Amino acid sequence: MDKLNDYREQLRAKNPEETILWALNEFGIDRIVLASSFSTEDQVLTRIMAGADDSARIFTLDTGRHFQKTYDVMQRTMEKYGFRYEVCFPADEEIAAMVSEDGPNLFLKSVELRKKCCEIRKVRPLRKILSTVDAWICGLRRDQSVTRTALEKIEWDETFGIYKINPLYDWSENMVLSYIRENDVPCNALYDDGYRSIGCEPCTRPVGKDDDIRSGRWWWESPDHKECGIHAKPDR
Ligand code: SF4
Repeated sequence: MDKLNDYREQLRAKNPEETILWALNEFGIDRIVLASSFSTEDQVLTRIMAGADDSARIFTLDTGRHFQKTYDVMQRTMEKYGFRYEVCFPADEEIAAMVSEDGPNLFLKSVELRKKCCEIRKVRPLRKILSTVDAWICGLRRDQSVTRTALEKIEWDETFGIYKINPLYDWSENMVLSYIRENDVPCNALYDDGYRSIGCEPCTRPVGKDDDIRSGRWWWESPDHKECGIHAKPDR
């Protein structure tokens, strides 16, 4: 992976803004995309990305199980920064078959069924949009969970066969929140209700200030299972 090492060297001293500008230039505006689930990290990156080039691509996965407050922050973000999200939906027939067969709350029955739900609602639509690019940008940070401690600023994503860029990989939660406050970035109101990592409504709950950030996601599972397939194989 000489190319990966070369990229790591080029990015070593770059801050998140510089990293995104470098990525847009290196891969081309049509061949790189930012993934947003409207987390505080994604909102920081969205502001930077939309400010860098208003035709830069930003997508979101609409699983059909989001909180209303998540849609509210999506609306405010579009209006504030004046761009359109590429909205990726799961396939109707796959949702219908899954809910008919396993029920609407299948994710509570076993890890396998939870992963099936994530696969159909998130991973397949994700695979489809990522097949159109050579790199994607994500808001992952090392200190978010035990599954993310080996994260690098740029990785080769073996799952999707493209580069994955994590401009905030070494930021703390406080750095993210300071950026949000200083730049008046739209923020999901659920953070005010004690949520610290927000996904689908039935699989997310508030956590305490001193708890692991991801402990409110799929809280009925053990910590080392807590990825949905989107970030399942962090590269070294
Ligand atoms: Fe399904 Fe929950 Fe995964 Fe959303 S987070 S896709 S509801 S299992």
